[in-house]
Amino acid sequence: MPTKKVNILGVKVDMIDIAGAADRIMGFFNEERLHTVFTPNSEIIMAAYRDPEFCKMLNSADLLTADGIGVVYASKILKRPINERAAGYDIARRVLEKLNYTDHKLFLFGGKPGVAEEAAANLRKEYKELNIAGTRNGYFKPEEEEEIVDQINDSGADIVFVCLGAPKQEKWINAHKNELRVKVAMGIGGSLDVFAGRVERAPDFWCKIGMEWFYRLVKEPWRAGRMLDLPKFAATVIMKGKNYKQDEV
Ligand code: UDP
Repeated sequence: MPTKKVNILGVKVDMIDIAGAADRIMGFFNEERLHTVFTPNSEIIMAAYRDPEFCKMLNSADLLTADGIGVVYASKILKRPINERAAGYDIARRVLEKLNYTDHKLFLFGGKPGVAEEAAANLRKEYKELNIAGTRNGYFKPEEEEEIVDQINDSGADIVFVCLGAPKQEKWINAHKNELRVKVAMGIGGSLDVFAGRVERAPDFWCKIGMEWFYRLVKEPWRAGRMLDLPKFAATVIMKGKNYKQDEV
């Protein structure tokens, strides 16, 4: 069942929560084609606002969830409220819980050398029946891309977590969507670093009060430049948001 969407500066984000997103993704395994899942935050929506081609690419996804409190607020400003933030990491966790009880195979792609393997080892401990078909680090030359696609396909994976950071992962998935034989390709940023135990996720408290961005800013101050997009995003949604037509679904 398609969900209602909210058009935020041209990006049509699904009005769906974490549990709903995980259910939709599990449903994708019943269809014989590749499905793409992206989780845009306010930086990505601003990037799409400035770049119509990128905006089109995002809108071609099968599922677009609201990653970040900024996107949730924007949906409320536009009077099509999304209930909760549905970050890639949280959706991935729910999907892993469900994959654990299926025969579907998972491929982990991204992160520095060693990270995907460490993530796989940790996930195997946590999800005893999980079938991880292969791993590949996220640093490659353009001429290696076909080899990576072959590695994913040859592994027999049904789902791939592509963790190259945004917008690299979205562009990579889009460039290879006709060759990949998986049923689900999800772009989920730095999640493998968290699964590998190399990066700590903001404690629940910070997420619940909508201040995860602040926690990350203190822990990873080099993000400050990128975060300047957040006030610009808020101002643009307030000023221009109403110019974008909301579909009647
Ligand atoms: N990364 C990668 N290949 C690249 C650039 C980045 O695999 O060419 C990985 C990087 O090691 C990190 C992730 O992509 O694991 C990006 O994480 P970040 O938290 O910056 O992404 P976000 O979730 O903010 O998009």
